[in-house]
Amino acid sequence: MIKQYLLPYATNALKPVIDTATVETHHGKHHAAYTKTFAELAEKAGMADRDPVDILKSLNEVADEALRTGLRNQGGGYLNHNIYFEQLRPVSEAKQAPEGKLLAQIKEQFGGVEELKQELNVLGASQFGSGWAWLCKAPDGTLKTLKTANQDNPYSLGTDLVPILTLDVWEHAYYLQYRNLRADYLKALWQVIDWSVAEARYEA
Ligand code: MN
Repeated sequence: MIKQYLLPYATNALKPVIDTATVETHHGKHHAAYTKTFAELAEKAGMADRDPVDILKSLNEVADEALRTGLRNQGGGYLNHNIYFEQLRPVSEAKQAPEGKLLAQIKEQFGGVEELKQELNVLGASQFGSGWAWLCKAPDGTLKTLKTANQDNPYSLGTDLVPILTLDVWEHAYYLQYRNLRADYLKALWQVIDWSVAEARYEA
C-alpha cells in the first residue's frame, strides 16, 4: 500500500539537528508530493495494489518508458523518504548506538560504529548532485554500503540488498539550515538516527 510515513514527533522535535522549516518542507511538501504522484502512476500502470518494494523491483514489467521512469523516480522518492523519516527521532529519544547482532556485524566488517559512520558520510558527501548513501543487508547477512543518484535505491537498481539506514543528501534535506555544508549536516544527522530502527531492519 502506498502510504506516506507519518511523523510520530512534531516538526520542531528534531531541533537543533534539523530545523522546523526543513522538516515541514521535506516531509510536508517533497515527500507528500512523491507519495501523491507515485500513487497516481502506480494506478496508471495497474500496479496500485502491489507492494511499493515489489513495484520498484518490477520496473522492467512496465513497457512504457515514460511511465517506467516516473515510477522509478517517484516510487524511489516515496520509499526512500519512508525509510529515512522512519529512522529519525528527537535526540533525547534516538538510540545513539547499535547493539546485538548488528553491532557485531559492524565491528567485524568495519572495525566499529565510528568507522562505519565515517564511511557513510564520505559516500554521502561525495555523491555528485542529488542522491542517497545507504547501509544495506545482503542475503548472507553481511553489510554493504553504497551511494545512489537521484531517487534510485537498492530495489530499483535490481540488487538483492535490503536498506538498513539511509542518508538523504538532496539539497532539500539540509540547505535551509546548513546551506552548502553537506558534510556538516551529515556529521550532525547521526544524533537523530535511531539505531533501534536499524537493528530491527537488520534482524527482520
Ligand atoms: Mn529528501
